[in-house]
Amino acid sequence: MIIGVPIEIKNNENRVALTPGGALELIKRGHTVYVQDNAGFNSGFPNDLYESIGAKILPTIEAVYDIAEMIMKVKEPIESEYKLIKEGQLLFTYFHFASYEPLTKAMIENRSVCLAYETVEKADRSLPLLIPMSEVAGRMATQQGAKYLEKPIKGKGVLLGGVPGVSPGRVLVLGGGVVGTQAAKMAAGLGAQVTIMDINLDRLRYLNDVMPANVVTRYSSEVNIRELIPIMDLIIGAVLIPGAKAPNLITRDMLKDMQKGTVLVDVAVDQGGCIETCRPTTHEDPTFIIDDIVHYCVANMPGAVPYTSTVALTNATLPYAIQLANKGWKKACTENKELELGLNVIKGDVVYRAVAEAFDLPY
Ligand code: NAD
Repeated sequence: MIIGVPIEIKNNENRVALTPGGALELIKRGHTVYVQDNAGFNSGFPNDLYESIGAKILPTIEAVYDIAEMIMKVKEPIESEYKLIKEGQLLFTYFHFASYEPLTKAMIENRSVCLAYETVEKADRSLPLLIPMSEVAGRMATQQGAKYLEKPIKGKGVLLGGVPGVSPGRVLVLGGGVVGTQAAKMAAGLGAQVTIMDINLDRLRYLNDVMPANVVTRYSSEVNIRELIPIMDLIIGAVLIPGAKAPNLITRDMLKDMQKGTVLVDVAVDQGGCIETCRPTTHEDPTFIIDDIVHYCVANMPGAVPYTSTVALTNATLPYAIQLANKGWKKACTENKELELGLNVIKGDVVYRAVAEAFDLPY
């Protein structure tokens, strides 16, 4: 199969869909990989790395879309790309269709085959192509929180790990899923005293078993949150209720109970946030302050570490990309239910119920 990897043109997107190592695995299996000039540059993969393993560099995005049977991307196509997509072309990327009707309509009209990373689903209902980015965001949440606790950037002036003779910082993690687990692990590794809250008792039992001694678990309730916030240095929001807006676990009135310079990192901001006073921010201007409390609410945290994010994404997508390339999308999806669930639009028809329902389209 001919695979095309265009440059990501969405604002501030520095990732690329395929590393040279990933491209090699496809080439070894007899496929041809075309990469747009400098597509991997911002992730640390210049053209010569792709060329050295046998991938071919094309000068323009038009040339990539023109030749490829399967386009591998990171973010959904933006308007200037809609017209480049050809009938029957397979697009394997994040789409998040239900949040943007014009994209859905455009992909119906161009009669492409859209396989969305975010709906590829395993039998245990986990989402293997979303997990790597949650892992990145979770680990970054602690890293960013530790940074913004520094006094020159309006934090409380607390070193999370403490030093001999000085108590370590205290971290509260709301939600013990993928993001929360990674955030807690990083905070524990720095030596902080960490509390993870969740409403899923099985999850708390598991975390209680696997986490080091400086991590404790508490059931997530308003009473417990109110009890703990006055002594916390860093609070990380990492809750998710699938398909719904995140609940506001930290409300506006709770800010007055926190110490000046406390840092709030709301990773769940992309689902509306679980901290009432959070609004989406960018890597250029990541924080704002309300009532002397520092808020960090960047909606695309993995974008700041494109090398790590690109490698993590390729690790997860590659096994599926190989199946698609070896068998073609029809056979690959028939034989692998996980991939089949990734199909959202096929040649003009919406085949994913939630997308059809979002825009009242036939299903
Ligand atoms: P997950 O499903 O693995 O974990 C969510 C956890 O929240 C679950 O364990 C669930 O039981 C728990 N939860 C639900 N209601 C709760 C409550 N009231 N109190 C405490 N816990 C509660 O999800 P995840 O992969 O960890 O993702 C978490 C959030 O991070 C999502 O909104 C996701 O979209 C977001 N995210 C953001 C970025 C970013 O760049 N900002 C990147 C990746 C993921």
